[in-house]
Amino acid sequence: MGFRVTRAWKLALGLYVAGLALAFGGPSLGLFSPLSGPQVRMLFFVPLSFAFMAALPVKLPTKILIGLGLGTVAGFLVGPPVAAIKPIGTIFLRLIFMVIVPLVLTSLFVGTQSLGDIRTMGRIGFRTVAFYGLYTLVGAGLGLVLANTLRPGEGLTPQAQEELLASFGEAAQARVQNIQKPSFGETLVNIIPKNIVTGMASDPPNMLQIVFFAIMMGIGIMLIPGQEEKKKLVVEVFDGVFQITLQIIQLAIKLAPYAVFALIAEVVGLFGFDVLLLLAKYTAVTVGGLVLLFLTYIPLTYFTTPLNVGGFIKGIWPVMTIAFSTSSSAASLPVMMDVCRNRLGVSQRIVNFMLPLSITINMNGSALYQAVSAVFIAQVYGIPLTLPDQIIIVLIATLSAIGAPGVPGASFMMLVVVLTQVGVPIEGVALVLGVERILDMLRTTVNIVGDSTAAVVVGHWEGELDAPASLLKKSVRSG
Ligand code: ASP
Repeated sequence: MGFRVTRAWKLALGLYVAGLALAFGGPSLGLFSPLSGPQVRMLFFVPLSFAFMAALPVKLPTKILIGLGLGTVAGFLVGPPVAAIKPIGTIFLRLIFMVIVPLVLTSLFVGTQSLGDIRTMGRIGFRTVAFYGLYTLVGAGLGLVLANTLRPGEGLTPQAQEELLASFGEAAQARVQNIQKPSFGETLVNIIPKNIVTGMASDPPNMLQIVFFAIMMGIGIMLIPGQEEKKKLVVEVFDGVFQITLQIIQLAIKLAPYAVFALIAEVVGLFGFDVLLLLAKYTAVTVGGLVLLFLTYIPLTYFTTPLNVGGFIKGIWPVMTIAFSTSSSAASLPVMMDVCRNRLGVSQRIVNFMLPLSITINMNGSALYQAVSAVFIAQVYGIPLTLPDQIIIVLIATLSAIGAPGVPGASFMMLVVVLTQVGVPIEGVALVLGVERILDMLRTTVNIVGDSTAAVVVGHWEGELDAPASLLKKSVRSG
């Protein structure tokens, strides 16, 4: 596929040249003041990068990766004014979120009923939830051990503490002020919606309630005796809506390289590197913990599935780039479903059943983040944490990671719940806000690697993993 000068290209080029003429001619006509250096750089670098990406004859996942790289360069080159292109990323995210509720509802309903009977569903459901629950606990436990041994809070000087509270206090307050702090019992009860429409209509949608409702619908249809024709019809309608959502996502995903470019450029352009220095030890401990957690997936996949490690990572990297740039497991769901089904060979019913569930409840990276952050904030305030406090942190971090929706910044808000339980001042969340976005990108990536790992592991246990030969271990290929 070569590069062709189509009519659309000529039009785009014409508009660009006209835009440049206006941008540089405008000030001399007294229309607006001359452009600043960063604005001029943006004017050249962003459209040219987009044109380059559009013309490049490579597959979409490669294009997304290129978008990530060029977007990072744009962020450095342009700085804060690059935020002007953020709407491109927001449009992409909105297109995905527009269909996330019908996608989760229909895919889980179709997935649940396709398991055939309650026993199979119970077995797969139990394995899935046990896997997620245990691994999330491992994440929180690892975070706790690292924060207690490396003590990042002791690395923060009182001046740095004051500076952080002064710079981020108000913003942090605004983000956490509406957070409810339900008890353990209430958290469990809240999984059952009083009214599913309210659960779907809240912002962000209450995914746990939608998941519960979809599974109950799937069980309900399994329990209807006879009436096969009618049941088939209902399933076909749900499956039809599921297919429609996938098609919409296929359209939206074409925007992904440009959206990823815009999102990452904004993060890099606005990022305060001085804050990174202030919080260097905390950031290093959290990032180190996330890397360790990520590394645990490698032996897990190697020893429990026929996949080779390189093959597995090669299979999932498109969704890693999406998770990294969007900071949202929910926004990564469609690409993850596609990757697990079409690149890794997990069966459709396992994909449909497990992945909507996993983006909602499997957040081991987030649990690690919450544990490290809670201990860090307690250390900064000089509040000693007893053993029972530490156990509470692991349990509450695990539960709030399970309860957090897969959207940007969810665990940051849930931190308030963890801090409240162990008597640490909640204003302390301001201390970690400065590096929140970058840590969100990383923990979301770890979360979705965990989701994909669970899908291949459970898929293999169920005899429903049919990976292409190129992704298999040598011993399996030759055997
Ligand atoms: N952004 C994370 C996710 O979507 C959730 C969080 O930890 O804030 O997986």
